[in-house]
Amino acid sequence: MSDTKTARALTVLHAELDACRACPKMIGPVVHGPPVASKILLVGQAPGPREGSFGRPFAWTAGKTLFRWFLEGTGIDEDAFRRTIYMAAVARCFPGKSSGGGDRRPDAKEIEACKSFLAREVAILRPALVIPVGTLAIDEVLGKGRKLAELIGTTERVRYHGVDMDAICLPHPSGASPWHKMEPGKTLLVRAMKRIADHPEVKRLRADL
Ligand code: SF4
Repeated sequence: MSDTKTARALTVLHAELDACRACPKMIGPVVHGPPVASKILLVGQAPGPREGSFGRPFAWTAGKTLFRWFLEGTGIDEDAFRRTIYMAAVARCFPGKSSGGGDRRPDAKEIEACKSFLAREVAILRPALVIPVGTLAIDEVLGKGRKLAELIGTTERVRYHGVDMDAICLPHPSGASPWHKMEPGKTLLVRAMKRIADHPEVKRLRADL
């Protein structure tokens, strides 16, 4: 599919996403990035409370950390990232707060309801590289039960929604999770960013910037 056709198919899908009200406990609006024809797919967990008002994913503190990792690890800044890498998530609406005060994790029904959008994005983009961010996204892409310490810093070959691709996982950059600030997380995160920077699809993208 040409980049123009891909962007057009994603725009149609985004209109359907914008109109989705399938999950009664979710708080709108639906948040998605632009229709970027990219071979790199980033899968996050779900938007936080601020992303809806900005109208884009990773628009607040977790995003600041994530984009810093990319700038330091690959030389790709936030603006270039948003223009060239397709950003998706396990759920596209803010789940609200949990009783503990953090953001509620989407439940199984909500994940299932939102999965059809992810499956269609994968079918349209046919990514060469998927970057799941955080345990929920990692569970979705690689299957449940994998430990962060075993996965971060590796490249896995996965079949995701019927398409074979490389997977390089990242921990969640939210301030609520200390994993990436302590060992072995710190060292493994550097290793993961190096793997992303060295991936052929990322090298191609950087050459075109
Ligand atoms: S989380 Fe996904 S499936 Fe649920 S209402 Fe939002 S867009 Fe629709």
